[in-house]
Amino acid sequence: MIILGATGSIGESTCKVLRSYPDLFTLTAITYHSNFERAREIHNEFAFAGVCSTGELKDEEKKAWKSEGVEIAENLETFLQGDYDIAVVAIVGAAGVAPTVSLVEKGKVILLANKESMVIAGELLLHKAKLSGSLILPIDSEHNSLFRLLRKTPEFRKLTITASGGALRDIPVGKFESVDVKQVLRHPTWDMGAKITVDSATMVNKALEIIEAHYFFNTPYEQLGAVIHPESLVHAMVEDSDGSHFMHLYHPDMVYSIAYCLFYPEPPPMILKSISYDQERSIHFSAIDHEKYPGYYLGVECGRKGGYYPAVFNAANEVAVHYFLNQRIRYLSIIPLIENVLEQFDGVNKVLSIETLVEADRWAREKAAEIGDVM
Ligand code: NDP
Ligand code: MG
Repeated sequence: MIILGATGSIGESTCKVLRSYPDLFTLTAITYHSNFERAREIHNEFAFAGVCSTGELKDEEKKAWKSEGVEIAENLETFLQGDYDIAVVAIVGAAGVAPTVSLVEKGKVILLANKESMVIAGELLLHKAKLSGSLILPIDSEHNSLFRLLRKTPEFRKLTITASGGALRDIPVGKFESVDVKQVLRHPTWDMGAKITVDSATMVNKALEIIEAHYFFNTPYEQLGAVIHPESLVHAMVEDSDGSHFMHLYHPDMVYSIAYCLFYPEPPPMILKSISYDQERSIHFSAIDHEKYPGYYLGVECGRKGGYYPAVFNAANEVAVHYFLNQRIRYLSIIPLIENVLEQFDGVNKVLSIETLVEADRWAREKAAEIGDVM
């Protein structure tokens, strides 16, 4: 197997799973973007044979890989031509689209963490997967739960995913004016990369996940919903025809969904960490507040509009989050920046190809940067 974006948080969780099954899977190659040190650590542990740096490959990095006998792929496409069965796509953002498309065309088994590629190019990916026989399995926890529940209950009325509420859940909206990057990155239940942690605070993450679920489970938006659940124990629920619900619970740790996908269609052979009912537990659910989380409603609306809207929404969000993390805009400017880009989008709507999606993505990024620069 290979890991794309091995140096990030999902990459780390994947390594954790591999450590539990040293004889069953062989990590043959990885990609990284900037974190050479972490890539070296992974090599020291798993001794993979091939590598690709999607960022700028420095001379000393080249030298170090060569001295270890690791083959360096010039670019991602060359890298993907190697010999492997399973690919974990753990790259963050729209940069995951091109390799995911390429993997689908090659008919590979794809463990998809990169939700952005499903959001941007869901229809095309599924169409291509049908043609090539590629299997795309969801690592994203909520979708992994839905995937499991639907294997047991294929008929349903509604699918609901949960949201922790993010780092600002307990802070009143009136105080959002002064929240800083550090506060937003302090996620209450999950330990993840910076971009998705900001997306959790704005709840843009949940909007992206609703769009992701729309494609993954071929389900209309009217039958999809999200709810705040601060304990992050229940990850999704399926409503049966009589209004009763099936829920899926596990500790907030990505190893469950990664292990499940690695062993699919067999169940993972060992207990990771069971939920104990010896201690008292509370489980809460509440609706997503419109005033606190406008990004959720904006994103779902883009999903409903379809066509290029999800790609434009996603690209504008990536730029807005990048600007926020670099302290160029305030937290409260993130959603208005995205809204502003969407207002200027002319809404051409039939998605023709990956090339036209990339063009929409590029347009939205440029527009978002223009707006962000003067905010
Ligand atoms: P991280 O930021 O922790 O890691 C991102 C990875 O992508 C790193 O390996 C990074 O390399 C690499 N990368 C960054 N920019 C580029 C680029 N332009 N081209 C290619 N590779 C790049 O993110 P996460 O692991 O948290 O998230 C990865 C994906 O998984 C996201 O799409 C996220 O939404 C999704 N996801 C994550 C969850 C989590 O628990 N973390 C849960 C569910 C979904 P480097 O570090 O070397 O710069
Ligand atoms: Mg998720």
